[in-house]
Amino acid sequence: MDLLQRQPRIGGNAINYYYTCKTQLWFFLHNISMEDTSEYVALGKLLQETYSEGEEKDIQFDEISLDILKPLKEVVEIKRSSEIKEAHIYQLKYYLYYLKTRYGLTGFTGKLTYPNIHKTMKISLKPDDERELQEAIKEITKIFYLKTMIPPKYKKICRKCSYFELCFS
Ligand code: SF4
Repeated sequence: MDLLQRQPRIGGNAINYYYTCKTQLWFFLHNISMEDTSEYVALGKLLQETYSEGEEKDIQFDEISLDILKPLKEVVEIKRSSEIKEAHIYQLKYYLYYLKTRYGLTGFTGKLTYPNIHKTMKISLKPDDERELQEAIKEITKIFYLKTMIPPKYKKICRKCSYFELCFS
């Protein structure tokens, strides 16, 4: 199928990468993945297992993957480090937005939790957030159609990124 006929399937990771690094997003949207055997990924999975014991977890549908869905309409997202907090917040807001716009499911709230540092934030979806996410979706779609990669810019998180060798060697 011609690239221009395809539409990106935008899940939580794409939103996260949009707010973290546009180069990373470009790789992801173009199905370029690096084997990530880092301790960070393993630690993230372990945290999710530990934190979510007995809960409805890892719920996957369409392009969405929710860490935990609690009774009383609460979506929980578990993260290891708060280094890219803005990206985590928008990832979770996107889940609330997706449930609302795709399935008409309103009234959900979010909980962003960092078990490692005992920090939790309540997240809700406001009209401004919806506008912000609509803009993000448009920009992600433009990046999906870019034929060449977005040049990388070094930042603090690069050392922990699986694309590091691809960007800087
Ligand atoms: S190494 Fe840095 S610039 Fe490259 S994709 Fe990762 S975060 Fe982005």
